[in-house]
Amino acid sequence: MTCAERGAVQVIDTHAHLYDVPDVAGALEQAAEAGVSDIIMPGVDLASNRRHHELRAAFGRPRLHLALGLHPGNISPEEIEYCFPYMRAHMSGAVAVGETGLDFSYTSVRADAGKKDEQRAVFRRHLDLALEFNLPVIVHSRGAWQECLDMVKAAGVVRADFHWYSGPEDVLKGILDAGFVISCSPAIEYSAEVRRAALYAPLERILLETDTPVKIPGPSRARAPSTPKDVWRPLRALAALKGVDESRALTATSTLARSFFDLDRKYPGHHASGCMGPDEQG
Ligand SMILES: [Zn+2]
Repeated sequence: MTCAERGAVQVIDTHAHLYDVPDVAGALEQAAEAGVSDIIMPGVDLASNRRHHELRAAFGRPRLHLALGLHPGNISPEEIEYCFPYMRAHMSGAVAVGETGLDFSYTSVRADAGKKDEQRAVFRRHLDLALEFNLPVIVHSRGAWQECLDMVKAAGVVRADFHWYSGPEDVLKGILDAGFVISCSPAIEYSAEVRRAALYAPLERILLETDTPVKIPGPSRARAPSTPKDVWRPLRALAALKGVDESRALTATSTLARSFFDLDRKYPGHHASGCMGPDEQG
């Protein structure tokens, strides 16, 4: 399907860790050809936040956007010391805070009250940054769904994306009641929890993501690393699950992504109407 056939709206990958992609130039070329207009790159530590900054400066299409964060799985005294000053210094050029949150699914964390407290303190500092810079938060909430929701609400943050949401339905109800959103990864093709969440949430509250380079099943069912071009997979699976046209799911998810991350305010010259694939321009 060409860009013209798809209509004016292009697809947006709201969660791709491009720092972890060996051939970024190739992946971005494929993404542009596939009609991906924008990619949000959540950082997970100091090095990845820096790398994403370089990538944004080096590549123009698809448009790359920074989210700055310290992932709960990467917390260390050094990261806390150096990552926060870096994030604060660069936050005005970012579209979101994250990836941040709590992950109590790690066995090393589950029974360790100190590690849980450390995650909470680091998450809280991200929420404060989001408030200070009036930015949305990309929340990693695995195994700590209710507590993440409670903390985001208590902080007074108004825009939160519960990324790759696979938690219980009552927490999801709380997420939606609070005005927050979820994002669907390619796991919507095979994960019962993700499919349940995608069915429950209204289409207008769902973002698309690849979580590049998370491995996804290929044609032979062997798993291979994803890249942003694969964001069409959750789009198609979501449309099928919801029983709506792909074009409707595309419009809904792209409209939400643009307003949630305020993409048009950051880059006033660009709008969703542009077809930006390299050979589809004009
Ligand atoms: Zn991620």
